[in-house]
Amino acid sequence: MRGRLVAGNWKSNGDLAANQLLLGHLRAAAAGLQGVDCVVCAPYPYLFQIQQLLAGSTLTWGGQDVSQFGAGAYTGAVTAAMLREFGCRYAIVGHSERRSIFGENNAMVAAKFGAALQAGLTPILCVGETLQERESGAMEQVVGAQIDAVVTAAGVAALGKAVVAYEPVWAIGTGKTATPEQAQAAHAFIRSRIAAQDAVVAAELKILYGGSVKAANAAQLFAMPDIDGGLIGGAALVAEEFMAICKAAQRH
Ligand code: PEP
Repeated sequence: MRGRLVAGNWKSNGDLAANQLLLGHLRAAAAGLQGVDCVVCAPYPYLFQIQQLLAGSTLTWGGQDVSQFGAGAYTGAVTAAMLREFGCRYAIVGHSERRSIFGENNAMVAAKFGAALQAGLTPILCVGETLQERESGAMEQVVGAQIDAVVTAAGVAALGKAVVAYEPVWAIGTGKTATPEQAQAAHAFIRSRIAAQDAVVAAELKILYGGSVKAANAAQLFAMPDIDGGLIGGAALVAEEFMAICKAAQRH
């Protein structure tokens, strides 16, 4: 049976004092959870603090992005090996904000995916369509191309060491959640797209849903057969909310 995973994406939020409080609450509450992996993805400067405060806890952590390059003359870029030095187990790649604001295309995302994997990180590959793409009936075409770019570059077996997050762009930070049925349909599509190349990899792949997940709607989403957890933005900054979402994802 696939495990459950809930990852919090802090985006460009936090400060040392607020993080300390939040991490303290998460650490205490996560100790009581079973059957779900809880991950904190934080801004780079706070990874040292997270390593100090979460070491030995049941929580793991990761970067919100990673360089597609190794060490060298790439000003501003943070390598996968650096993330590993700060205890990261995960790196988000291809978040829609990276794609739309920072101009990352499918080829760059595939390169970042490969760099993370090569350094021993588990990439959390984000895919998802815009509202316009959904309304014009292009969801499968867009999401299929995002998945295919990684499969072509890294091979389908690489997805066996990764997590996919389906995040419809129109649902991120908007308060507009996909219905459980809409999310399930997209997840089933992603799984079938991968199954066409490798049925075992597809069956074992964790596919998270992201887009305005809250404590109030998490259980209905996680009850869907192809939804294996969540990627959580705003609600990840509130300890009680994030922990309630993690709890809703527990397998009983
Ligand atoms: C995200 O940032 O990946 C996200 C899903 O944000 P939110 O939960 O705030 O919609």
